[in-house]
Amino acid sequence: RDLFAERANSAGLPLDDPDVLAQLDSALRAAFARAPWRAAPRINGRRRPGTDRTLRSPGDHRLVAGTVAEADPEQARAAMAGAAAAFPAWSRTPVEERAAILERTADRIETERAGLVARIVWEGGRCIPDALAEVREAADFCRYYAATAREQLAERPLPGPTGERNVLRSEGRGVFLCVSPWNFPAAIFTGQIAAALAAGNSVVAKPARATPLTAMRIVELLAEAGVPDGAVQFLPGPSGELGPALLSDPRLAGVALTGGTDTARGIQRALAARDGPLVPLVAETGGVNALIVDSSALPEQVARDVVHSAFNSAGQRCSALRVLFLQEEVAPVMLDAIAGAVWELRVGDPARLDTDVGPVISEAARAGLEEHARRVNSGARVVGWAEPTGEAPPGSYFEPRVYELSGPEDLPDEVFGPILHVIRYRPGELDRVLDAVNGTGYGLTLGVHSRVEETARHIAERANVGNVYINRDIIGSVVGVQPFGGRGLSGTGPKAGGPHYLTPFLHEKTVTDNI
Ligand code: GLU
Repeated sequence: RDLFAERANSAGLPLDDPDVLAQLDSALRAAFARAPWRAAPRINGRRRPGTDRTLRSPGDHRLVAGTVAEADPEQARAAMAGAAAAFPAWSRTPVEERAAILERTADRIETERAGLVARIVWEGGRCIPDALAEVREAADFCRYYAATAREQLAERPLPGPTGERNVLRSEGRGVFLCVSPWNFPAAIFTGQIAAALAAGNSVVAKPARATPLTAMRIVELLAEAGVPDGAVQFLPGPSGELGPALLSDPRLAGVALTGGTDTARGIQRALAARDGPLVPLVAETGGVNALIVDSSALPEQVARDVVHSAFNSAGQRCSALRVLFLQEEVAPVMLDAIAGAVWELRVGDPARLDTDVGPVISEAARAGLEEHARRVNSGARVVGWAEPTGEAPPGSYFEPRVYELSGPEDLPDEVFGPILHVIRYRPGELDRVLDAVNGTGYGLTLGVHSRVEETARHIAERANVGNVYINRDIIGSVVGVQPFGGRGLSGTGPKAGGPHYLTPFLHEKTVTDNI
């Protein structure tokens, strides 16, 4: 059965309609006027005090997006205890009811679109179209996992060749820790929680340190939609302090993480070192994502897709393009087209609808990118550069850059921002290119631009990655349509927004009955 066919993805806004645009503008103005927002630990349904921290907007350091009260290890233990206490009732709540609550959450998320977008733009520095898309994705995750749970959690009869009655049941595992990133403060935060809840788990949610305001609102929407108080515990704060308390807790039954490869490894080590049950880690991490362009590709299409894949969201997507391989004969034409498109990007205030590239998340991120650029720059040729617009407010801006490196084996380190590396290859070198890409050990997204079907198929076949995109951009996976996630250093799977995602969130129980 096709789960996706049973319900449509959340609808977008036709932003070319002036009336829609005017409505959005006034809704956003009203939402921004309600800032600064506040986030705080929410334990057993009650907001708790913590250590206050002010959150300034990465797009404009003069703006205070809000304040967060950060939790301490004692509150982490209280959140664990609360989630463990709420688990039996939630896991016994019929799957139909859990699914209905998640569907109501999706509706609430759509109704609250402007408030969520405003938070995402101010605390996360994301541009308005990205924030709108992310709110849709958050609703999509709720509906998709609700549908998956309805479909997959029903008791399954098994053969009974000896006259016994055999059935297979699926049930929640216990308390799931959901650790989410700042680059999708609504969608990924919501997706992890929705999956865990749909499967019958209770949740301790630890949002990214930079983006607790959006996450707090989502937690309130879940509660308004009917998630019982103890079933989602909210714990903003520093991973370094909260992580050890949470990961060593014997009540922990699983972890979902989207973040860095090092963080995933750290969690695996902590889980291996503790007493208590053996539990799964579902990790989605980064990538050194490549796009391979051969001489049959169309330059304008390549330029458009390259610039979008590398620089949308200021390159701060796990899926974003990092290395562009160009077949030698067409490289000059392609590079001209790309440099022209990069030059035209508007870099600046994410709260303006005509901005193409907003800020990076923090001054520390900007400094890291400068450092990477300095290292790369010494051995590379600068191909393209975009300038911040004159009116850009004082924020953490890093203008998109394109560097050409020397050969197929000269791959860069992983970098999380708007830096694109270009490498030329000769026709006979395609397999060397693929070996180099596979040799990074990462395996998230990979793109091909070619009108030769055999080339495209060969690359898709040999690429050791989770998502292959042929003749299009390589970002913006859609729930239920392009299940998303990688392998190797890029993650454990299963894929978010895909039909198998709930599996690690479940215990299976076989009941063999001779009554
Ligand atoms: N699913 C997103 C995309 O396709 C990326 C998610 C991430 O950055 O973690 O662009």
